[in-house]
Amino acid sequence: MKCKICNSKEISEVINLGKQPLANKYPKNKLEIINEKKFTLKILFCKNCRSGQIKKIINRNILFEDYYYLSSVNKKLREHFQNLALKIKKYNFVVDIGSNDGILLKPLKELKVKSIGIDPSINVGKMANDRGLKTFIGFFDKNIIKKILKKYEKPDLIVASSVVTHLENPKKFAKDIKSFIKKDGTLIIEIEYLQNFLKNLEFERFYFDRPFYYSANSIKKLFKNVGMTLYDIEKINVHGGSLRCFIKNSINPKITKRCKIILQNEKKVLSTKSFQNFNIQIYKSSNILKDKLTNLKNKGYTIIGYGSPARVSTITNVAKINSNLIEYIIDDSPLKQNRFSPGMHIKILPRKNNISQLTDTVVVFAYEYFNDIKKFFGKNKVQFYKPIPFRKL
Ligand SMILES: [Zn+2]
Repeated sequence: MKCKICNSKEISEVINLGKQPLANKYPKNKLEIINEKKFTLKILFCKNCRSGQIKKIINRNILFEDYYYLSSVNKKLREHFQNLALKIKKYNFVVDIGSNDGILLKPLKELKVKSIGIDPSINVGKMANDRGLKTFIGFFDKNIIKKILKKYEKPDLIVASSVVTHLENPKKFAKDIKSFIKKDGTLIIEIEYLQNFLKNLEFERFYFDRPFYYSANSIKKLFKNVGMTLYDIEKINVHGGSLRCFIKNSINPKITKRCKIILQNEKKVLSTKSFQNFNIQIYKSSNILKDKLTNLKNKGYTIIGYGSPARVSTITNVAKINSNLIEYIIDDSPLKQNRFSPGMHIKILPRKNNISQLTDTVVVFAYEYFNDIKKFFGKNKVQFYKPIPFRKL
């Protein structure tokens, strides 16, 4: 076994989440439930570059065939990209990889920064193009680079936000970036931070759609390999705490102090042992969740879930929670309504107007939006809980 980021053999299995379905596939009927596939979800940790990676990588064609997610619907993300646009307005030509519906391209256009996007999703990319936000549709690879360079110069800034976690082959991605970016150009990569998974007990962030989990050290090694240098890191407040990494297409830019501190700190915190402990905590916290819900149920409470992001799949399948405990889950996205949660098959329903009279206990899976969710329940006496670690909200 070798690390797919740095080639080291110092890689070992640290987390086993058992049999898991694909977290973004919501079966709609009995037949789809019968045909639902499950795979063992094991996470490896590389001691050399301090990355996590899924042992069995599922072919992305299976994962993305009916993928449908619009970034711009999310207000927090919209603000995030507006701020990023302001920060990068000095660049001449920006390419956004994984540009989705143009969430970064739109504020860049408003700031009159020349920019284009690349996105694999046909329907989402088309929506961006229809709004005048130039988007090349396809995965980021040699072919698409060739197509772009026929019409445009090399970009002096490339942005890839929430992209590298989904890649099947990070080393190839780094090589392609190197061939595409201008000399002395800058690459900005935003990653969900592996170290925060440990800190916040967020095992729910592991699922098959995302084979790689990064630290600053792993980003540094991945790009050092192609002659690019991680020189600055900003801590940002999206997706449970992320890193914004700045990488220069040169060998010796000045490295910021905060970058050095983060790199150094990881050497203490991210270790094989800390991940083995994490695995123990995962099962402890899942058992607590199940026990607490069982107690509430036995006392006669009516429990429902709110929000069905991918994490519902990981949590309910590890904790073995089905509709005996959570009667149904409410989700405001019509794309998920009247389907079932992956693996445990809890019904997903739209929110009814009298929701606060139908339940007294809510497990808030989409806890980032708790303040908005709370409002739907008015002044009625409802108890809200965060699933992992289980606590009252
Ligand atoms: Zn490695």
